Amino acid sequence: MASLTQAKCLVVKIGSALLVDRSAGGLRRDWLVSLAEDIAWLKASGIDVVIVSSGSIALGRGVLKLPSADLPLEQSQAAAAVGQIRLARAYEEVLDPHGIMTAQVLVTLDDSRNRRRYLNSRATLEQLLSMNVVPIVNENDTIATDEIRFGDNDRLAAQIAVTVGADQLVLLSDVDGFYSANPLQDKSAKRFDIVDDITAEIEAMAGDAGSGLSKGGMKTKLMAAKLATGAGCKMAITNGFAQNPLRALQNGAPATWFTADTDPSAARKRWIAGMKPAGTLELDAGAIAALHAGKSLLPAGVSRVTGSFQRGDAVAICDAQGHALGNGLVRYTAEEAARIMGRKSHEIEDVLGYPARAALIHRDDMAL
Ligand code: GLU
Repeated sequence: MASLTQAKCLVVKIGSALLVDRSAGGLRRDWLVSLAEDIAWLKASGIDVVIVSSGSIALGRGVLKLPSADLPLEQSQAAAAVGQIRLARAYEEVLDPHGIMTAQVLVTLDDSRNRRRYLNSRATLEQLLSMNVVPIVNENDTIATDEIRFGDNDRLAAQIAVTVGADQLVLLSDVDGFYSANPLQDKSAKRFDIVDDITAEIEAMAGDAGSGLSKGGMKTKLMAAKLATGAGCKMAITNGFAQNPLRALQNGAPATWFTADTDPSAARKRWIAGMKPAGTLELDAGAIAALHAGKSLLPAGVSRVTGSFQRGDAVAICDAQGHALGNGLVRYTAEEAARIMGRKSHEIEDVLGYPARAALIHRDDMAL
């Protein structure tokens, strides 16, 4: 079973039912204070932490005194707008006493589907983590309509874990794991400690255990597990209702861990290696040696650019004879690459007329 303190980057998803008191409609503040203690403990162990938190609609609903039934879209969007500001402030209030900075990041489904926006959200999250900030992520429910939304934060959390290259994802939920059947309906249902493989049989066991406040059930949790583990990120489902839920998980509270057979950087390289290149970059011998030594590809080492590609596309990295050495995700368009090839990094801004990214292909974005 995974140990939280071994994570390099941990994404924690908080379900609405944990944050918001179902009957009173307000925040469960004591619980949130205890969660902040856990986050502070993990941060002090040198772990990057990203929180994906639900609760904007549930909180806003309480403030606006809306009924507890399903809301029409415009009302849930309005509730999200009212609730989100309180949600973000609550995290700031409980983490600040630990000296932990927070940031609000609201995303939509398009931010993972559209390459350019995906790269932008990835860069922003990486920047925040490098500044030791804990990003508090939620879907931008105020502008997302049904056709263009994740709808549940289980899959959103898995997508965020993949985006930042996290190695562990914990879904703090109101169920303590993945069961062979719905435990509320079937007394013989058994919880799995570990799932190594999400087989068709496992998928058939996922009923739809929604809790009333949150959108996700076991189906969305399994989809999240597939997405995360496929990218080398282990995932746990555990009941987060009691105080200090992450400590409890570390100390052996009931949970289901979905294992991953690879790590995030190997999974990413495999994904890049499998992409169809939209063009090629031909390199001189010095640049090839630098890449093999683990360096990023700088424009100075490129002698020829072919194909038509956009920022973020895969290109083949070739030697002077045109033999492919591998793939990389390029940070410039084909047109820009042709203009800056052979140039020293400090010349790029003059050539392009705008500030440059130093690398043409970052070393993390390469599979040789
Ligand atoms: N994004 C929604 C909210 O913050 C919650 C979605 C979910 O419960 O999974 O209210």
